[in-house]
Amino acid sequence: MPGRVHSYETMGALDGPGLRLVVFLQGCPLRCRYCHNPDTWTADGGKDTDVAEIVRRLLRLQPYFGRRGGLTLSGGEPLRQPEFCGELLRECRRLGVHSALDTGGGVWDEACREVIDLADLVILDIKAADRAAWQALTGRNAFAALTGMLAHLRRTSHPVWIRQVVAEGLNDRPEDMLKMLGLVRDLRLERLELLPYHDLARGKWERLGLPYAADDLKPPRPETLAKLRKVIADNRGDADATTTTPDAGTTE
Ligand code: SF4
Repeated sequence: MPGRVHSYETMGALDGPGLRLVVFLQGCPLRCRYCHNPDTWTADGGKDTDVAEIVRRLLRLQPYFGRRGGLTLSGGEPLRQPEFCGELLRECRRLGVHSALDTGGGVWDEACREVIDLADLVILDIKAADRAAWQALTGRNAFAALTGMLAHLRRTSHPVWIRQVVAEGLNDRPEDMLKMLGLVRDLRLERLELLPYHDLARGKWERLGLPYAADDLKPPRPETLAKLRKVIADNRGDADATTTTPDAGTTE
């Protein structure tokens, strides 16, 4: 069955190990205030695309993947299209290509579970560590989806990268990091990234006629980020707490 694809990034270097084909899927149930891709929200945008079309792209790029690179399914929320994602991830297994699923954790059911189990790596944007903050940031009452997903990842010891956007005045205190560490405790955590908030998506919101919802947020100061990294390192000896500046990426 075809999936609804928003865009692609070829040779993406941020969304998983090595160089990757990143497929941004259309549709997302969340409305994160700082969303970079509000144009992926509606289910009817993007373009109908067959699995075979993505496999063709994958095969063209496979020589550049090396041992670590591969396919990343992102969005939007890829788990909104579980059957399509499942088919793509099975193709990755057949071809021996590493696969990653980049999710906001806003949907969770049996179909999502099957998709996650097929991905070699789950990249989870944690957003906020408690129900009230998560709901305020995402505009949705779906924190139980995130905790359901985390429980499954814990049970299956699935490799996970955690991402946390950090903004001044939102979640830039040491206690915010400790709360986040509590939420991701006992995961098979391969990487934990703090992503400094920025407002590069403001223009996209305006072009869509949407009032930018993160006007009150500011990028964290570099010294604050350094302090938060230290809090993480002190409380998780084995964590690879890196901070990266999100790249808008080259989508086509
Ligand atoms: S989950 Fe991602 S795509 Fe969806 S609203 Fe949040 S930031 Fe945007």
